[in-house]
Amino acid sequence: MAIRRLLKTYAGLVPNPISRPTRDWHARTRGAEKVVSVCAYCAVGCSQLVYTRDGRIVDVEGNDDSPINAGTLCPKGAATSGLMASPHRITTVKYRAPHSDHWEDRPLAWAMERIAQRVKQTRDVAFHEKNAAGVTVNRTLAIGHLGGATLDNEENYLIKKLFTAGLGIVAVENQARI
Ligand code: SF4
Repeated sequence: MAIRRLLKTYAGLVPNPISRPTRDWHARTRGAEKVVSVCAYCAVGCSQLVYTRDGRIVDVEGNDDSPINAGTLCPKGAATSGLMASPHRITTVKYRAPHSDHWEDRPLAWAMERIAQRVKQTRDVAFHEKNAAGVTVNRTLAIGHLGGATLDNEENYLIKKLFTAGLGIVAVENQARI
């Protein structure tokens, strides 16, 4: 009690033991606009809080109010802001030409165009309306698609719809098993 009384008496007279820079530190989300969202990656449907400032995402966190994830996110959901806003994000495609021994950087648009041409050419020569028994199959077994963990729900929906129903590709798979 005596110490507490002493501290009270001399409060304001002794220097603050916390430095000004430390006192001025604050969360990167302070003053940012907060929007409630849903993680795009899987059917668990974890709720996220997306913080933006000047139109740019500054942080994505789990939403405490969600009965599904109660403020938590798995490593994939927790890395959402990094995936969208990281300056280290790779924006070109690695391409190795046939018989080449090295990789080249190519623009994404170039790769998309090339893939589209190859899919069209392959499907044109390897699409079968009927199988050997005469049963209608409308499929090609010459093309496959393997998705990755960073595809979101909407992208997977479109991939499945286009590649299976649209192009007749049977081998459509995703690492995340959505
Ligand atoms: S990917 Fe992770 S954070 Fe996102 S909804 Fe699924 S479990 Fe939740």
